[in-house]
Amino acid sequence: MFASLMFLSAAVTMDSHLPPLKPWQGESVTLMQEKGPLTTDFELSGGMRSPNYEDTMAFVDRLVAANPTQFKVQTIATSSAGRKIKMLVANEQGLFDAAQLTSDAKPTIFIQAGIHSGEIDGKDAMFMLLRDIATGKRRDILSKVNILFIPILNVDGHERSSQFNRINQRGPVEMGFRTNGLNLNLNRDYTKLDTPEVRGVLKVINTFKPDLYVDVHVTDGADYQYDVTYGYNPVFSSESPSVSEALDTMFKPIIDAKLTKMGHIPGPLVFVMDKRDFKKGLAGWVATPRYSNGWGDLRSLPSILVENHSLKPYKQRVLGTYVFLDGAIDALAKNNQALQAAVKKEREFKPTQLVVERSYATEPDTLVFKGIKYTRSKSELSGQAEVAYLGEEESYDALPIYWQKIVKKTVNVPSAFYIPPAYSAIISKLKLHGVEVLRVKDTGPKSLTQASVKDYTFANVPFEGRFRVEASFDYKSITDVDVTGWYKVSTNQPYSELATHLLHPEAPDSFFAWGEFNTIFQRTEYMENYALIPYAKQMLQEQPELALEFDQKVREDKAFAKDPEARLNWLYKRSPFYDQAYLQYPILMAFEQPSMEQ
Ligand SMILES: [Zn+2]
Repeated sequence: MFASLMFLSAAVTMDSHLPPLKPWQGESVTLMQEKGPLTTDFELSGGMRSPNYEDTMAFVDRLVAANPTQFKVQTIATSSAGRKIKMLVANEQGLFDAAQLTSDAKPTIFIQAGIHSGEIDGKDAMFMLLRDIATGKRRDILSKVNILFIPILNVDGHERSSQFNRINQRGPVEMGFRTNGLNLNLNRDYTKLDTPEVRGVLKVINTFKPDLYVDVHVTDGADYQYDVTYGYNPVFSSESPSVSEALDTMFKPIIDAKLTKMGHIPGPLVFVMDKRDFKKGLAGWVATPRYSNGWGDLRSLPSILVENHSLKPYKQRVLGTYVFLDGAIDALAKNNQALQAAVKKEREFKPTQLVVERSYATEPDTLVFKGIKYTRSKSELSGQAEVAYLGEEESYDALPIYWQKIVKKTVNVPSAFYIPPAYSAIISKLKLHGVEVLRVKDTGPKSLTQASVKDYTFANVPFEGRFRVEASFDYKSITDVDVTGWYKVSTNQPYSELATHLLHPEAPDSFFAWGEFNTIFQRTEYMENYALIPYAKQMLQEQPELALEFDQKVREDKAFAKDPEARLNWLYKRSPFYDQAYLQYPILMAFEQPSMEQ
């Protein structure tokens, strides 16, 4: 509190450390109103401020009060600190229940603001758009689509408000913090589902079945001319290429034309290979399943990640978001049937192999890019060459871009996964993911494949509160497994690709990699030498081949011969007393044609 009071007078000039800016006056400023009903806090502050949680929720209530036949608010989750996460549902005829809404012929757009609560542009943009619907200025919108809108997803982070939360961002004057009340990044939680916030989002998606999902952010990184950048996994590395193609050919042209007409510069979603030398090129990122849009890609849910440019002023970004969303709504209304056909095609596609890890191409593609001039000179502070952006335009005809085109790891997709009933937490998470899980009735013994951990490394620092594990595996066939009472996840279902990413232990976003199965790394029963030695003697007498193997090992492996513990362990491991579950991944896989290679 003290800090924010002390620096209040500096609020307007808080960006003097940022690269120079060209004045902007786009056509979209005409969207703002200075007075009249439902003027937003953003507008009242001249595009400088965003309201706090309490005022935000009060404004949601005012919107609903102004248009109760078309707007309704509901709570989708409660944050760990106890704040309600609210969602506004908008429908022309007042069909607010999920069952009613999903049977409505109009498509549904789901707009999510403030997953990173400092990047809050979506909230203030949607408040203006909803106001324009409520006051009748944009009556057309609800004749085209239904709207689901979360004004703040990360409600706890939103109230950790400060002028000092994002050093690279121009406004609002005070903004929320990136992570939630437990310092978890919600946009890394789409597979492990540790947070009530993201669990709430998945429930919305499963019940309301939106046709388009938009997650609004603000960038970090380089300076360039674009103010609104957005993207989705590109066709060549998407798990739902037909959906990406539909977004490319049917959505992008409409959205870009609208943004351009209203004075914005739409651009591609890009990251920089070398932050200290822009010309080296761009990194064409592919979202993995832990991100909203990577998860959406696996579910064949058309998902757009909006990243407004952090160096552009708040007012410009919010107005750009309004225009973007207006364009996305327009494109959805015009192309919903084609988009649905693409979704259906992708959900019916059943791969036998799945790429679970990619890396950047060594040879770049190129793209035309609207950049900003910069110099590089040695910084006294860092002691190395650093970039200074000059605020002047510099366009590139062929800027290198390195897409994640190289396939690093592929896994075979089993026909089904079998999960022991003790892993009820995994079953619950799968259901939250919308994955179909069936209890196995008596089916008789089966031949299944088990993954055994060969080598493993635990991360030595936590990531998202978890100690992740990397492992390699051996695969073996086991016969006569009775899985009665277990849970079966067939890959002959719409979300088979997501299920495989979650359940295959070699997938980097699997429950296994996130540490959900760390107890298999523990040995919890031990032997006493006085008990093992007589038992092992008898075992070797009864199994002469084993005795030969032991003798040979003692003869040939000097270190082994000299290590009493290793010798006894070798014997213990071959006895039936040894824990058969140690280092065994408990989820079994069925392959139509038993396949051992991975
Ligand atoms: Zn973000």
